Amino acid sequence: MFCPKCKGVQTVIKVHEEKDLSKPRLCDVQCLDCGHVVYYQPYDFGSTFNVVTNNKNVDSK
Ligand SMILES: [Zn+2]
Repeated sequence: MFCPKCKGVQTVIKVHEEKDLSKPRLCDVQCLDCGHVVYYQPYDFGSTFNVVTNNKNVDSK
């Protein structure tokens, strides 16, 4: 991801977690050079899909 203003390198500063895991996650990114922040960018770096394990429905016997 590159800054639309100065073409600098952007870094992720915040990830918006989706409760519905079928939806793509979004993130805020900030330019390391000029500090320009772009909100709600798609957060799918390739296929790094970390499944969140919430053990709500534990049916262990
Ligand atoms: Zn920039």
